[in-house]
Amino acid sequence: MAKWVYSFGAGLNEGRAEMRNLLGGKGANLAEMAAIGLPVPPGFTITTEVCTAYYDNGRRYPEGLEDQVEAALKRVEQAVGAVFGDAKNPLLVSVRSGARVSMPGMMDTVLNLGLNDATVEGIAARGGARFAWDSYRRFIQMYGGVVLGVDHHRFEEIIEHVKLDKGVTEDTELDAADWHRVVHGYKEMVQDATGRPFPQAPHEQLWGAIGAVFGSWMNQRAITYRRLHDIPEGWGTAVNVQAMVFGNMGDDCATGVCFTRDPSTGENVFYGEYLINAQGEDVVAGIRTPQPILKAKAKPGERSMEEALPAAFADLLRVREVLERHYRDMQDIEFTVQSGKLYMLQTRNGKRTAAASLKIAVDMAREGLIDEEEAIKRVNPGALDQLLHPTLDPKGKRTLLSRGLPASPGAASGAVVFSADEAEARAAKGEAVILVRIETSPEDIHGMHAAKGILTTRGGMTSHAAVVARGMGRPCVAGAGGITVDYAAQALSAGGHIVRAGDTITLDGATGEVFLGAVPMIEPKLSGDFATLMGWADKVRRMKVRTNAETPTDAETARRFGAEGIGLCRTEHMFFDPGRIGVVRQMILAETEAGRRDALTRLLPFQRQDFIEIFRIMAGLPVTIRLLDPPLHEFLPHKEEEMEEVAEGLGTDLATVKRRAADLSEANPMLGHRGCRLGISFPEIYAMQARAIFEAAIAVKQETGEAPLPEIMIPLVAMTRELEITRAEVKRVAEEVFGETGQHVPYSVGTMIELPRAALIADAIAAHADFFSFGTNDLTQTVFGLSRDDAGKFLPLYVEKGILPKDPFVSIDPDGVGALVAIAAEKGRAAKPELKLGICGEHGGDPASIAFCEKVGLDYVSCSPYRVPVARLAAAQAALAAGGVDRTA
Ligand code: PEP
Ligand code: MG
Repeated sequence: MAKWVYSFGAGLNEGRAEMRNLLGGKGANLAEMAAIGLPVPPGFTITTEVCTAYYDNGRRYPEGLEDQVEAALKRVEQAVGAVFGDAKNPLLVSVRSGARVSMPGMMDTVLNLGLNDATVEGIAARGGARFAWDSYRRFIQMYGGVVLGVDHHRFEEIIEHVKLDKGVTEDTELDAADWHRVVHGYKEMVQDATGRPFPQAPHEQLWGAIGAVFGSWMNQRAITYRRLHDIPEGWGTAVNVQAMVFGNMGDDCATGVCFTRDPSTGENVFYGEYLINAQGEDVVAGIRTPQPILKAKAKPGERSMEEALPAAFADLLRVREVLERHYRDMQDIEFTVQSGKLYMLQTRNGKRTAAASLKIAVDMAREGLIDEEEAIKRVNPGALDQLLHPTLDPKGKRTLLSRGLPASPGAASGAVVFSADEAEARAAKGEAVILVRIETSPEDIHGMHAAKGILTTRGGMTSHAAVVARGMGRPCVAGAGGITVDYAAQALSAGGHIVRAGDTITLDGATGEVFLGAVPMIEPKLSGDFATLMGWADKVRRMKVRTNAETPTDAETARRFGAEGIGLCRTEHMFFDPGRIGVVRQMILAETEAGRRDALTRLLPFQRQDFIEIFRIMAGLPVTIRLLDPPLHEFLPHKEEEMEEVAEGLGTDLATVKRRAADLSEANPMLGHRGCRLGISFPEIYAMQARAIFEAAIAVKQETGEAPLPEIMIPLVAMTRELEITRAEVKRVAEEVFGETGQHVPYSVGTMIELPRAALIADAIAAHADFFSFGTNDLTQTVFGLSRDDAGKFLPLYVEKGILPKDPFVSIDPDGVGALVAIAAEKGRAAKPELKLGICGEHGGDPASIAFCEKVGLDYVSCSPYRVPVARLAAAQAALAAGGVDRTA
């Protein structure tokens, strides 16, 4: 016969913490606490397998369950010395759900189960009439709500009615007779609402509650939650049935919740709240103000548990010690004190802020509770992002204006501006500005750079604003649809407020909130625990971490964060600078090669200077520079007066400029005449860029004595010949420059693998490449037939509907993009074992994708500067998951 029920407490502990899959988190930990000698009221857990069997068998319980529940209940009766349903000496129980991971949306708790018109008298004899009738009405209310589905307002109305009748306002002013009246009213109302009397038989009550827990596994809220958090339906939930202990039987009783360390700072101090003479839900309901556990934390007028219940407090301190030593992690615990005696009702690893998670991991490693590798595993790399940006002071005053998507973390305050030019102009005068746009485009880059934060009213998490802001480390709130922007009036409105250009607002890019005025901030600390953990991570990781950067500021930031070179320098971003865009446009619109060469000659010094600055910052480290990639129309003017300006500069007319612009425009801007195809149509463009790179490298070598390591990267290769031709051109220029200067610098030439065809013929391509860098942005677009903007349009719906498990622009899709990366890595290495492999798409900063890169054996990942620490930690975790690094090899 299968075992469906596991007992705990009072000397029989059939479960352990490791059995959470079978017993759920709550049940497994109750058994564990009881087994290590902590005071846990006896009870039993109905396993998650019962839930699965129940649904597999058309909602019927498996054979043997009923007998096992009966037997386990008998044992609890004996342990407690009370009998379920006995009028004189009744056992009351709590019924709680408990999945493997805590899951909101499911039935949670029913307390005081076993009360009825007869047993209430037995409880009254033990704890007094008022306590008994109050407990009975609480039971009807909870059971009526969660098991019978009666609207909770209907219960509130009855209490209000009794209070009104008596002329009082507080629950505490109601006596036993009043609660008796409330119970009577409840029962009538339940009969009216459900068409049946409130169940009096304790066994019927018990099976009703068990059924409600299993039933809630399949309610809509739980289903949605599971889908959003990747929780398989097959896991099921367990049900915990446990003897009641009462925190509301008098002033020597209490109930409370604590964390063994401070969950917001991580400080090693006991942190918690409790209420005297109360039951669990009173703490949550917020009717009475909970009091602190520690005397040191009590404000005037408050009474700590340390003072009010010293003996139970001393026991609780001991429990804290035992739990931390046993679980080796910060615990979130629930307890009840009944008649001065402490009982433990729950323990689990406590949720914590990113800052606390870091501090607790490092502290525990220093305290010897865990080792360094365990500390590395404890911190969620994604959460580190929060620590690298200023954050809003939680104590600061704030007025919410609106809410959008948390597109790029960090907080920023500044004066509202509505155009990129205005942002730049005001920032140049030293003013902090927030750039507010309906949407942003590549032409806004200079304004985004100049701004402290970016707010858009349209677009998703991967809209232009979001991607660029994350790359730059600028806080960004995107798609704040509740805000209306009126460019003409230079004002925005939301929720009845009007904010004009120049007025101050504050963005919280981590929550998506927008506030009126300036909210005080806290600056991040990169030293201390952060540096310690990063140092430990660096010791265990195998993959290098580089950055995607094209400005000196980004390169410097990334170095500070520990980048080991540049994995992608997108040269086109350098073209958008307001001082150069005019020349870039002339280059593009020139009708002759001579015209183009003339403009390119003027661009050369700019490019060379860009590279010199970056090489200096990245001294001795590899710098991958990608030659021009986007289709040319992205650089073209859109407004008539801008076109006119270009026409004038070129000595031609407006009509000619318009015609050229139309010629160059691509229907699908992600495909077509871009990347190496431009380099083949207009070889002089790549030649100029290559020259700028070599001249800059030589200049820096002469200046510093250390030659930089340029890696020249050809984008969008699909055919071997494309790489062969462009590589030959780069080599020709290199020799030309080396000949002219009499100087030589080492360099390599490689390509991006960002088209499916390139991945499939990677062996042939490898013959002409020194390195591959996986451009998973374009690879995702071409594999799925999606554009990056689609991620803000309908992909969230696809994820919600389960058509896609995850947004493929965030995490590498293993079936398409991942499979191609694996094929290309294998073929490339087979053809050329020394081929260097990296990734430079946005995925390079995503922990799940970094784990994938470790498995495929890439040499490095490259990500935006602010993701560098995230990537260092994620790479370390990936190396540990792969079995650690063999440092003897
Ligand atoms: C890529 O395609 O992954 C890539 C890094 O290039 P871009 O995002 O500039 O197209
Ligand atoms: Mg690309």
